[in-house]
Amino acid sequence: MKTRTRFAPSPTGYMHIGNLRTALYEYLIAKSDGGDFILRIEDTDQKRYVEGATDIIYKTLKRVGMNWDEGPDIGGNYGPYVQSERKPLYAEYAHKLVELGGAHYCFCAQKEEGKETDEDTPEAHIKLKDPCKHIPLDEAKARISAGEPFVVRQNINKKGTSIFHDVVYGDIEIDYDELDEGVLLKSDGLPTYNFANVIDDHLMQITHVVRGNEYISSTPKYNLIYEAFGWTPPVYVHVPPVMKDAQHKLSKRNGDASFQDLVAKGYLPEAILNYIALLGWNPGDEREIFSLQELEKCFSSDRLNKSPAIFDITKLTWMNGCYIRNLSAEEFHKLAMSYYADLPQSIDFAALSAVLQPRIDTLAQIPEETAFLAEVPEYANELYLNKKMKTDMDIALKALCLVLPILENTEVWTNENLFETLKSVAMDNMMKNGQILYPVRIALSGKETTPGGATELACVLGKTETLKRVRKAIEKLS
Ligand code: GLU
Repeated sequence: MKTRTRFAPSPTGYMHIGNLRTALYEYLIAKSDGGDFILRIEDTDQKRYVEGATDIIYKTLKRVGMNWDEGPDIGGNYGPYVQSERKPLYAEYAHKLVELGGAHYCFCAQKEEGKETDEDTPEAHIKLKDPCKHIPLDEAKARISAGEPFVVRQNINKKGTSIFHDVVYGDIEIDYDELDEGVLLKSDGLPTYNFANVIDDHLMQITHVVRGNEYISSTPKYNLIYEAFGWTPPVYVHVPPVMKDAQHKLSKRNGDASFQDLVAKGYLPEAILNYIALLGWNPGDEREIFSLQELEKCFSSDRLNKSPAIFDITKLTWMNGCYIRNLSAEEFHKLAMSYYADLPQSIDFAALSAVLQPRIDTLAQIPEETAFLAEVPEYANELYLNKKMKTDMDIALKALCLVLPILENTEVWTNENLFETLKSVAMDNMMKNGQILYPVRIALSGKETTPGGATELACVLGKTETLKRVRKAIEKLS
Protein backbone atom coordinates (compact mmCIF):
# COMPACT_ATOMS: atom_id res chain seq x y z
CA MET A 1 0.00 0.00 0.00
CA LYS A 2 1.29 3.45 -0.89
CA THR A 3 2.17 5.67 2.05
CA ARG A 4 -0.28 8.55 2.32
CA THR A 5 0.04 11.33 4.89
CA ARG A 6 -1.96 14.48 5.30
CA PHE A 7 -1.44 17.94 6.67
CA ALA A 8 -4.74 19.07 8.14
CA PRO A 9 -4.41 22.65 9.31
CA SER A 10 -7.25 24.76 10.58
CA PRO A 11 -7.24 28.10 8.76
CA THR A 12 -6.15 30.37 11.59
CA GLY A 13 -4.46 33.08 9.55
CA TYR A 14 -0.86 32.22 10.36
CA MET A 15 1.50 29.28 10.17
CA HIS A 16 2.51 28.26 13.63
CA ILE A 17 6.06 26.90 13.79
CA GLY A 18 4.86 23.69 15.44
CA ASN A 19 2.29 23.16 12.68
CA LEU A 20 4.85 23.70 9.98
CA ARG A 21 7.10 21.15 11.64
CA THR A 22 4.22 18.65 11.76
CA ALA A 23 3.59 19.30 8.08
CA LEU A 24 7.26 18.74 7.35
CA TYR A 25 7.33 15.39 9.16
CA GLU A 26 4.15 14.36 7.33
CA TYR A 27 5.67 15.39 4.04
CA LEU A 28 8.92 13.57 4.78
CA ILE A 29 7.24 10.36 5.93
CA ALA A 30 5.42 10.27 2.60
CA LYS A 31 8.26 11.40 0.38
CA SER A 32 10.99 9.27 1.96
CA ASP A 33 8.79 6.32 1.02
CA GLY A 34 7.66 7.40 -2.44
CA GLY A 35 4.23 8.23 -1.03
CA ASP A 36 1.69 11.03 -1.35
CA PHE A 37 1.31 14.12 0.79
CA ILE A 38 -2.24 15.41 1.02
CA LEU A 39 -3.47 18.82 2.09
CA ARG A 40 -6.83 18.99 3.85
CA ILE A 41 -8.33 22.14 5.28
CA GLU A 42 -10.11 21.63 8.61
CA ASP A 43 -12.57 24.49 8.75
CA THR A 44 -15.49 23.00 10.65
CA ASP A 45 -15.00 25.32 13.59
CA GLN A 46 -16.67 28.26 11.87
CA LYS A 47 -16.12 30.54 14.84
CA ARG A 48 -12.40 30.41 14.21
CA TYR A 49 -12.69 31.08 10.48
CA VAL A 50 -10.32 33.78 9.22
CA GLU A 51 -10.59 35.33 5.76
CA GLY A 52 -7.57 34.64 3.53
CA ALA A 53 -6.20 32.06 5.94
CA THR A 54 -6.14 29.22 3.44
CA ASP A 55 -4.00 31.31 1.14
CA ILE A 56 -1.41 31.68 3.86
CA ILE A 57 -1.28 27.90 4.19
CA TYR A 58 -0.79 27.46 0.43
CA LYS A 59 1.82 30.18 0.22
CA THR A 60 3.82 28.91 3.17
CA LEU A 61 3.96 25.33 1.96
CA LYS A 62 4.88 26.44 -1.55
CA ARG A 63 7.48 28.86 -0.26
CA VAL A 64 9.33 26.06 1.52
CA GLY A 65 8.88 23.67 -1.40
CA MET A 66 6.51 21.23 0.28
CA ASN A 67 4.24 20.58 -2.65
CA TRP A 68 1.15 18.50 -2.05
CA ASP A 69 -0.10 15.74 -4.32
CA GLU A 70 -3.78 16.28 -3.58
CA GLY A 71 -5.54 19.25 -2.07
CA PRO A 72 -8.36 21.79 -2.36
CA ASP A 73 -6.74 23.72 -5.19
CA ILE A 74 -5.53 20.80 -7.30
CA GLY A 75 -8.14 18.17 -6.47
CA GLY A 76 -7.45 14.44 -6.36
CA ASN A 77 -9.35 11.19 -6.13
CA TYR A 78 -10.51 11.66 -2.55
CA GLY A 79 -11.96 15.16 -2.55
CA PRO A 80 -13.35 17.51 -1.61
CA TYR A 81 -10.36 18.45 0.54
CA VAL A 82 -12.07 21.17 2.55
CA GLN A 83 -14.10 19.85 5.46
CA SER A 84 -16.94 22.34 5.16
CA GLU A 85 -17.53 20.97 1.64
CA ARG A 86 -17.79 17.44 3.03
CA LYS A 87 -20.68 18.18 5.37
CA PRO A 88 -23.20 15.64 3.97
CA LEU A 89 -20.63 12.88 4.32
CA TYR A 90 -20.21 13.35 8.04
CA ALA A 91 -23.94 13.25 8.68
CA GLU A 92 -24.23 10.07 6.64
CA TYR A 93 -21.46 8.37 8.61
CA ALA A 94 -22.72 9.67 11.94
CA HIS A 95 -26.11 8.05 11.34
CA LYS A 96 -24.36 4.87 10.25
CA LEU A 97 -22.31 4.88 13.44
CA VAL A 98 -25.49 5.14 15.51
CA GLU A 99 -26.91 2.12 13.66
CA LEU A 100 -23.68 0.23 14.35
CA GLY A 101 -23.91 0.99 18.07
CA GLY A 102 -20.89 3.29 18.17
CA ALA A 103 -22.88 6.43 18.95
CA HIS A 104 -26.28 7.67 20.02
CA TYR A 105 -28.58 10.58 19.34
CA CYS A 106 -28.67 13.08 22.15
CA PHE A 107 -31.30 15.75 22.62
CA CYS A 108 -30.35 17.13 26.00
CA ALA A 109 -27.24 18.96 24.80
CA GLN A 110 -29.60 21.47 23.27
CA LYS A 111 -30.16 22.95 26.69
CA GLU A 112 -26.56 24.02 26.68
CA GLU A 113 -26.51 24.99 23.00
CA GLY A 114 -23.27 26.49 21.90
CA LYS A 115 -21.30 24.35 24.31
CA GLU A 116 -20.72 21.36 22.09
CA THR A 117 -17.68 22.76 20.34
CA ASP A 118 -14.54 20.97 19.28
CA GLU A 119 -13.27 21.49 22.77
CA ASP A 120 -16.29 19.63 24.10
CA THR A 121 -16.23 19.91 27.87
CA PRO A 122 -14.86 16.61 29.17
CA GLU A 123 -15.88 17.28 32.78
CA ALA A 124 -19.48 17.45 31.71
CA HIS A 125 -19.44 14.17 29.90
CA ILE A 126 -16.92 11.95 31.60
CA LYS A 127 -18.88 8.99 32.76
CA LEU A 128 -21.97 10.91 31.75
CA LYS A 129 -24.96 8.76 32.13
CA ASP A 130 -26.61 10.41 29.22
CA PRO A 131 -30.35 9.78 29.57
CA CYS A 132 -30.59 9.97 25.78
CA LYS A 133 -28.42 6.87 25.53
CA HIS A 134 -31.41 4.89 26.71
CA ILE A 135 -33.96 6.30 24.28
CA PRO A 136 -34.92 3.49 21.90
CA LEU A 137 -33.50 4.15 18.43
CA ASP A 138 -36.93 4.22 16.78
CA GLU A 139 -38.13 6.83 19.22
CA ALA A 140 -35.01 8.94 18.70
CA LYS A 141 -35.44 8.77 14.93
CA ALA A 142 -39.07 9.81 15.24
CA ARG A 143 -38.06 12.86 17.27
CA ILE A 144 -35.46 13.77 14.66
CA SER A 145 -38.03 13.37 11.86
CA ALA A 146 -40.33 15.65 13.81
CA GLY A 147 -37.64 18.31 13.60
CA GLU A 148 -36.19 18.17 17.10
CA PRO A 149 -32.58 19.35 17.17
CA PHE A 150 -30.04 16.71 18.13
CA VAL A 151 -26.38 15.93 18.34
CA VAL A 152 -24.66 12.60 17.83
CA ARG A 153 -22.62 11.50 20.79
CA GLN A 154 -20.04 8.75 20.93
CA ASN A 155 -20.69 5.60 22.98
CA ILE A 156 -17.87 4.48 25.22
CA ASN A 157 -19.16 1.08 26.20
CA LYS A 158 -15.87 -0.68 26.72
CA LYS A 159 -14.32 -1.25 30.11
CA GLY A 160 -10.69 -1.78 30.99
CA THR A 161 -7.66 -0.47 29.18
CA SER A 162 -7.18 0.57 25.61
CA ILE A 163 -3.72 -0.13 24.20
CA PHE A 164 -2.40 1.26 20.96
CA HIS A 165 0.99 1.72 19.40
CA ASP A 166 2.60 5.02 18.54
CA VAL A 167 5.76 5.34 16.45
CA VAL A 168 7.29 7.95 18.75
CA TYR A 169 5.88 7.04 22.18
CA GLY A 170 5.63 3.25 21.83
CA ASP A 171 2.71 1.34 23.39
CA ILE A 172 0.24 3.61 25.13
CA GLU A 173 -2.37 2.48 27.62
CA ILE A 174 -5.42 4.55 28.44
CA ASP A 175 -8.32 3.58 30.65
CA TYR A 176 -11.69 3.64 28.87
CA ASP A 177 -13.08 5.24 32.00
CA GLU A 178 -11.11 8.37 31.19
CA LEU A 179 -12.89 8.89 27.88
CA ASP A 180 -15.89 11.13 27.52
CA GLU A 181 -18.88 10.41 25.36
CA GLY A 182 -18.24 13.54 23.37
CA VAL A 183 -20.20 15.10 20.53
CA LEU A 184 -19.33 13.77 17.08
CA LEU A 185 -21.92 15.63 15.04
CA LYS A 186 -23.14 19.03 16.17
CA SER A 187 -26.71 20.26 15.94
CA ASP A 188 -25.78 22.33 12.86
CA GLY A 189 -24.81 19.10 11.10
CA LEU A 190 -21.10 19.86 11.19
CA PRO A 191 -18.76 17.31 12.71
CA THR A 192 -16.41 17.93 15.61
CA TYR A 193 -12.72 17.36 15.02
CA ASN A 194 -13.02 14.09 16.94
CA PHE A 195 -15.31 12.67 14.27
CA ALA A 196 -14.15 14.39 11.11
CA ASN A 197 -10.53 13.34 11.49
CA VAL A 198 -11.47 9.65 11.55
CA ILE A 199 -13.92 9.82 8.65
CA ASP A 200 -11.58 11.85 6.48
CA ASP A 201 -8.43 9.92 7.29
CA HIS A 202 -10.23 6.70 6.44
CA LEU A 203 -11.93 7.92 3.26
CA MET A 204 -8.72 9.58 2.07
CA GLN A 205 -6.84 6.33 2.76
CA ILE A 206 -4.33 8.01 5.02
CA THR A 207 -1.78 5.46 6.22
CA HIS A 208 0.15 7.59 8.75
CA VAL A 209 -1.42 10.20 10.98
CA VAL A 210 1.14 12.66 12.31
CA ARG A 211 -0.05 15.16 14.89
CA GLY A 212 0.69 16.85 18.18
CA ASN A 213 0.85 14.69 21.30
CA GLU A 214 -2.16 16.53 22.72
CA TYR A 215 -4.21 14.12 20.61
CA ILE A 216 -2.82 11.00 22.32
CA SER A 217 -5.46 10.98 25.03
CA SER A 218 -8.29 11.00 22.46
CA THR A 219 -6.80 8.33 20.23
CA PRO A 220 -8.65 5.43 21.93
CA LYS A 221 -11.88 7.24 21.04
CA TYR A 222 -10.83 7.41 17.40
CA ASN A 223 -9.90 3.74 17.51
CA LEU A 224 -13.37 2.88 18.80
CA ILE A 225 -14.86 4.63 15.77
CA TYR A 226 -12.54 2.79 13.38
CA GLU A 227 -13.48 -0.44 15.12
CA ALA A 228 -17.24 0.20 14.96
CA PHE A 229 -16.99 0.76 11.21
CA GLY A 230 -14.70 -2.23 10.78
CA TRP A 231 -11.90 0.00 9.46
CA THR A 232 -8.16 -0.29 10.13
CA PRO A 233 -6.71 2.62 12.10
CA PRO A 234 -3.70 4.40 10.63
CA VAL A 235 -0.16 4.27 11.97
CA TYR A 236 0.03 6.93 14.69
CA VAL A 237 2.96 9.31 14.92
CA HIS A 238 2.43 11.76 17.77
CA VAL A 239 5.03 14.47 18.08
CA PRO A 240 5.95 16.46 21.18
CA PRO A 241 5.30 20.19 21.19
CA VAL A 242 7.82 22.83 20.21
CA MET A 243 8.61 24.73 23.39
CA LYS A 244 9.53 28.33 24.07
CA ASP A 245 11.23 27.26 27.31
CA ALA A 246 11.07 24.30 29.67
CA GLN A 247 7.55 25.22 30.80
CA HIS A 248 5.81 26.95 27.92
CA LYS A 249 4.77 25.83 24.49
CA LEU A 250 5.63 28.08 21.59
CA SER A 251 2.39 29.83 20.79
CA LYS A 252 1.37 32.54 18.39
CA ARG A 253 -1.30 33.59 20.83
CA ASN A 254 1.41 34.43 23.36
CA GLY A 255 3.21 36.51 20.80
CA ASP A 256 5.74 33.91 19.67
CA ALA A 257 6.87 34.14 16.08
CA SER A 258 4.97 32.38 13.32
CA PHE A 259 6.61 31.36 10.06
CA GLN A 260 5.59 34.67 8.46
CA ASP A 261 6.97 36.63 11.42
CA LEU A 262 10.32 34.91 11.07
CA VAL A 263 10.45 35.59 7.33
CA ALA A 264 9.61 39.23 8.05
CA LYS A 265 12.48 39.27 10.53
CA GLY A 266 14.87 38.31 7.76
CA TYR A 267 15.08 34.54 8.14
CA LEU A 268 15.24 32.52 4.93
CA PRO A 269 12.43 29.98 4.50
CA GLU A 270 14.97 27.25 3.67
CA ALA A 271 16.84 27.93 6.90
CA ILE A 272 13.64 27.92 8.96
CA LEU A 273 12.67 24.60 7.41
CA ASN A 274 16.10 23.10 8.04
CA TYR A 275 16.06 24.31 11.62
CA ILE A 276 12.60 22.96 12.46
CA ALA A 277 13.40 19.58 10.88
CA LEU A 278 15.99 19.16 13.64
CA LEU A 279 13.58 20.25 16.38
CA GLY A 280 12.54 16.75 17.28
CA TRP A 281 14.39 14.67 14.71
CA ASN A 282 18.05 13.89 14.13
CA PRO A 283 19.87 12.23 11.27
CA GLY A 284 21.90 9.99 13.57
CA ASP A 285 25.12 11.83 12.85
CA GLU A 286 26.56 15.30 13.25
CA ARG A 287 25.17 16.84 10.07
CA GLU A 288 23.03 19.92 10.54
CA ILE A 289 22.55 21.53 7.17
CA PHE A 290 19.90 19.86 5.02
CA SER A 291 17.93 20.93 2.02
CA LEU A 292 14.40 19.60 1.70
CA GLN A 293 15.59 17.18 -1.00
CA GLU A 294 18.33 15.89 1.30
CA LEU A 295 15.82 15.43 4.10
CA GLU A 296 13.56 13.47 1.77
CA LYS A 297 16.43 11.05 1.23
CA CYS A 298 17.56 10.54 4.79
CA PHE A 299 14.42 11.02 6.90
CA SER A 300 13.13 8.12 8.92
CA SER A 301 10.44 8.35 11.57
CA ASP A 302 12.29 6.10 14.02
CA ARG A 303 14.62 9.01 14.69
CA LEU A 304 11.81 11.25 15.92
CA ASN A 305 12.38 12.28 19.49
CA LYS A 306 9.74 12.07 22.20
CA SER A 307 11.16 14.78 24.45
CA PRO A 308 9.94 18.29 23.66
CA ALA A 309 12.33 20.52 21.77
CA ILE A 310 13.04 24.10 22.75
CA PHE A 311 12.94 26.63 19.95
CA ASP A 312 16.34 28.31 20.09
CA ILE A 313 16.41 31.52 18.11
CA THR A 314 20.19 31.81 18.51
CA LYS A 315 20.66 28.48 16.81
CA LEU A 316 18.23 29.43 14.05
CA THR A 317 20.08 32.72 13.58
CA TRP A 318 23.37 30.85 13.28
CA MET A 319 21.85 28.47 10.75
CA ASN A 320 20.34 31.36 8.82
CA GLY A 321 23.81 32.88 8.60
CA CYS A 322 25.07 29.64 7.07
CA TYR A 323 22.28 29.81 4.48
CA ILE A 324 23.03 33.47 3.73
CA ARG A 325 26.66 32.58 3.09
CA ASN A 326 25.67 29.69 0.87
CA LEU A 327 23.68 31.93 -1.47
CA SER A 328 25.33 33.06 -4.68
CA ALA A 329 26.32 36.73 -4.71
CA GLU A 330 23.43 37.42 -7.14
CA GLU A 331 20.86 35.61 -5.01
CA PHE A 332 21.96 37.46 -1.90
CA HIS A 333 21.99 40.79 -3.68
CA LYS A 334 18.45 40.22 -4.93
CA LEU A 335 17.20 39.51 -1.41
CA ALA A 336 19.19 42.32 0.19
CA MET A 337 17.97 44.94 -2.33
CA SER A 338 14.56 45.20 -0.68
CA TYR A 339 16.30 46.35 2.52
CA TYR A 340 18.19 49.18 0.79
CA ALA A 341 15.16 51.39 0.15
CA ASP A 342 16.23 54.13 2.57
CA LEU A 343 19.81 54.43 1.33
CA PRO A 344 21.03 57.13 -1.11
CA GLN A 345 21.10 56.14 -4.76
CA SER A 346 24.80 57.07 -5.01
CA ILE A 347 25.70 53.93 -3.12
CA ASP A 348 27.27 51.00 -4.96
CA PHE A 349 24.69 48.45 -3.92
CA ALA A 350 26.45 45.45 -5.43
CA ALA A 351 29.59 46.35 -3.46
CA LEU A 352 27.44 46.78 -0.35
CA SER A 353 25.93 43.32 -0.78
CA ALA A 354 29.40 41.84 -1.17
CA VAL A 355 30.41 43.48 2.11
CA LEU A 356 27.30 42.35 3.97
CA GLN A 357 26.93 38.75 2.83
CA PRO A 358 29.80 37.31 4.88
CA ARG A 359 28.89 39.35 7.92
CA ILE A 360 25.18 39.21 8.66
CA ASP A 361 23.03 36.38 10.00
CA THR A 362 19.59 37.72 9.13
CA LEU A 363 18.46 40.08 6.40
CA ALA A 364 16.72 42.23 8.99
CA GLN A 365 20.12 43.28 10.32
CA ILE A 366 20.70 45.20 7.09
CA PRO A 367 18.94 48.50 7.94
CA GLU A 368 20.75 48.78 11.25
CA GLU A 369 24.10 47.75 9.78
CA THR A 370 23.84 50.23 6.91
CA ALA A 371 22.14 53.27 8.42
CA PHE A 372 25.51 55.10 8.59
CA LEU A 373 25.66 55.03 4.80
CA ALA A 374 22.80 57.49 4.63
CA GLU A 375 24.23 59.73 7.31
CA VAL A 376 27.26 59.60 9.61
CA PRO A 377 25.89 59.25 13.12
CA GLU A 378 26.93 61.71 15.84
CA TYR A 379 30.18 60.47 17.35
CA ALA A 380 32.83 61.69 19.78
CA ASN A 381 36.37 62.27 18.54
CA GLU A 382 37.50 59.85 21.25
CA LEU A 383 36.40 57.12 18.83
CA TYR A 384 39.74 57.70 17.07
CA LEU A 385 41.50 56.58 20.23
CA ASN A 386 42.37 52.92 19.74
CA LYS A 387 45.22 51.22 21.55
CA LYS A 388 45.37 48.19 19.31
CA MET A 389 45.52 50.33 16.18
CA LYS A 390 47.91 52.73 17.91
CA THR A 391 45.78 55.70 17.00
CA ASP A 392 44.57 58.75 18.83
CA MET A 393 43.00 62.05 17.73
CA ASP A 394 46.31 63.60 16.63
CA ILE A 395 47.38 60.58 14.65
CA ALA A 396 43.94 60.41 13.08
CA LEU A 397 44.07 64.04 12.01
CA LYS A 398 47.51 63.55 10.53
CA ALA A 399 46.40 60.36 8.75
CA LEU A 400 43.30 61.93 7.24
CA CYS A 401 45.23 65.01 6.06
CA LEU A 402 47.76 62.73 4.36
CA VAL A 403 45.05 60.57 2.81
CA LEU A 404 42.78 63.31 1.47
CA PRO A 405 44.92 64.64 -1.42
CA ILE A 406 45.90 61.13 -2.41
CA LEU A 407 42.30 59.98 -2.56
CA GLU A 408 41.38 63.10 -4.49
CA ASN A 409 43.83 61.96 -7.14
CA THR A 410 42.87 58.30 -7.13
CA GLU A 411 41.04 57.35 -10.30
CA VAL A 412 40.70 53.58 -9.99
CA TRP A 413 38.12 53.37 -7.21
CA THR A 414 38.31 49.66 -6.42
CA ASN A 415 38.82 48.00 -3.07
CA GLU A 416 42.11 46.50 -4.16
CA ASN A 417 43.55 49.70 -5.54
CA LEU A 418 42.35 51.79 -2.59
CA PHE A 419 43.81 49.30 -0.16
CA GLU A 420 47.21 49.36 -1.88
CA THR A 421 47.07 53.16 -2.05
CA LEU A 422 46.36 53.58 1.68
CA LYS A 423 49.01 51.02 2.57
CA SER A 424 51.58 53.00 0.65
CA VAL A 425 50.50 56.19 2.44
CA ALA A 426 51.33 54.35 5.69
CA MET A 427 54.63 53.10 4.39
CA ASP A 428 55.72 56.42 2.94
CA ASN A 429 55.05 58.12 6.26
CA MET A 430 56.51 55.41 8.49
CA MET A 431 53.10 54.70 9.98
CA LYS A 432 51.33 51.40 10.70
CA ASN A 433 48.58 50.36 8.28
CA GLY A 434 46.06 50.55 11.11
CA GLN A 435 47.02 54.14 11.83
CA ILE A 436 45.75 55.05 8.37
CA LEU A 437 42.96 52.53 7.85
CA TYR A 438 41.31 52.88 11.25
CA PRO A 439 40.87 56.67 11.11
CA VAL A 440 39.55 56.46 7.57
CA ARG A 441 37.02 53.83 8.61
CA ILE A 442 35.84 56.00 11.53
CA ALA A 443 35.69 59.07 9.29
CA LEU A 444 33.53 57.20 6.78
CA SER A 445 31.20 55.54 9.27
CA GLY A 446 31.28 57.25 12.65
CA LYS A 447 31.13 53.74 14.10
CA GLU A 448 33.54 51.46 15.89
CA THR A 449 32.31 48.33 14.16
CA THR A 450 31.22 48.34 10.56
CA PRO A 451 30.46 45.79 7.91
CA GLY A 452 33.68 45.98 5.91
CA GLY A 453 36.93 47.83 6.34
CA ALA A 454 37.93 51.37 5.33
CA THR A 455 38.47 50.72 1.64
CA GLU A 456 35.40 48.51 1.28
CA LEU A 457 33.34 51.32 2.77
CA ALA A 458 34.97 53.81 0.40
CA CYS A 459 33.89 51.64 -2.53
CA VAL A 460 30.34 51.35 -1.24
CA LEU A 461 30.08 55.12 -0.66
CA GLY A 462 31.75 56.15 -3.93
CA LYS A 463 34.46 58.72 -4.41
CA THR A 464 32.44 61.93 -3.94
CA GLU A 465 30.84 60.89 -0.66
CA THR A 466 34.11 59.40 0.63
CA LEU A 467 35.99 62.68 0.06
CA LYS A 468 33.14 64.64 1.61
CA ARG A 469 33.25 62.50 4.75
CA VAL A 470 37.04 62.65 5.07
CA ARG A 471 36.95 66.48 4.79
CA LYS A 472 34.23 66.67 7.41
CA ALA A 473 36.20 64.46 9.78
CA ILE A 474 39.29 66.67 9.37
CA GLU A 475 37.18 69.68 10.24
CA LYS A 476 35.78 67.90 13.27
CA LEU A 477 39.26 66.95 14.50
CA SER A 478 40.91 70.32 13.82
N1 GLU B 1 -6.88 20.68 12.39
C1 GLU B 1 -6.07 20.10 13.41
C2 GLU B 1 -5.12 21.12 13.97
O1 GLU B 1 -4.90 22.12 13.33
C3 GLU B 1 -5.30 18.95 12.82
C4 GLU B 1 -4.87 17.90 13.75
C5 GLU B 1 -4.52 16.65 12.96
O2 GLU B 1 -3.51 16.69 12.26
O3 GLU B 1 -5.26 15.68 12.99
O4 GLU B 1 -4.61 20.99 15.03
